[in-house]
Amino acid sequence: RATLYVVATPIGNLRDISQRALDVLAGVDVVAAEDTRVSGQLLRHFGIQNSLLSLREHNERAMAERIIARLAAGESVAQISDAGTPGISDPGAVLAAAVHAAGYPVVPVPGASALTAAVSAAGFSCPHTLFYGFLPPKSKQRRDALAPLVVLPYLTVYYEAPHRIVDCLTDLAAVFGDARQVVMARELTKTFETIRRSTLGELLQWVQADSNQQRGEFVLVVDAAEPVENTDEAAHDAVLSPLVAELP
Ligand code: SAM
Repeated sequence: RATLYVVATPIGNLRDISQRALDVLAGVDVVAAEDTRVSGQLLRHFGIQNSLLSLREHNERAMAERIIARLAAGESVAQISDAGTPGISDPGAVLAAAVHAAGYPVVPVPGASALTAAVSAAGFSCPHTLFYGFLPPKSKQRRDALAPLVVLPYLTVYYEAPHRIVDCLTDLAAVFGDARQVVMARELTKTFETIRRSTLGELLQWVQADSNQQRGEFVLVVDAAEPVENTDEAAHDAVLSPLVAELP
């Protein structure tokens, strides 16, 4: 019975909760939540009355010890974050590691995440994805963080806050180039959901021109780099030399 369940909750539309998530949240002895006010509302919406503990980034280590003590007493615990999947740019990794180390099972109850929702609708064929999460808040550090990603043959995915979206797109366009394809997924599953696919240069102009497009929550999915052509001269010579030798 002593198990930590890592439970995904909706990223906007409450109907995206799974039946299993509801069963687990109702059935465990205690729910560890980031903001107990936010999660209290969620549980009330589904008619679930359960006790809540507050587990945030700054107290995750101390809370992990308290949670392990409850597991040791035979209780089961669910962890949720304010929205989406715990451990994805949210607290959860420290708790899960401590529970693994203490020898109790860590069981995911999968569901919504802005990451998978955005990638699923982006329509890029590259089968590899690098999830970056939040970039540094300052432009210089942001460009430095982006520089090594430009040549990668992977989609790269970023989370961004509304007050930084224009600056972030400016830096993405500067570092990846205006022509790179991107999908902006804004307010996923909510009333003003917007999914826009274009080039970075065009997207930046479009977002700058409309302040409504600067509100809400954002995921940016940047397409992979084109495969680099083999420009190795030796490889060319190996093919061309025998052909040249055949010429009259
Ligand atoms: N754990 C969450 C998940 O699984 O997606 C992410 C939590 S992180 C603190 C919050 C960020 O996720 C937001 O700033 C935004 O970039 C992204 N996000 C969350 N909900 C979103 C939504 N409905 N639409 C677009 N982006 C969202």
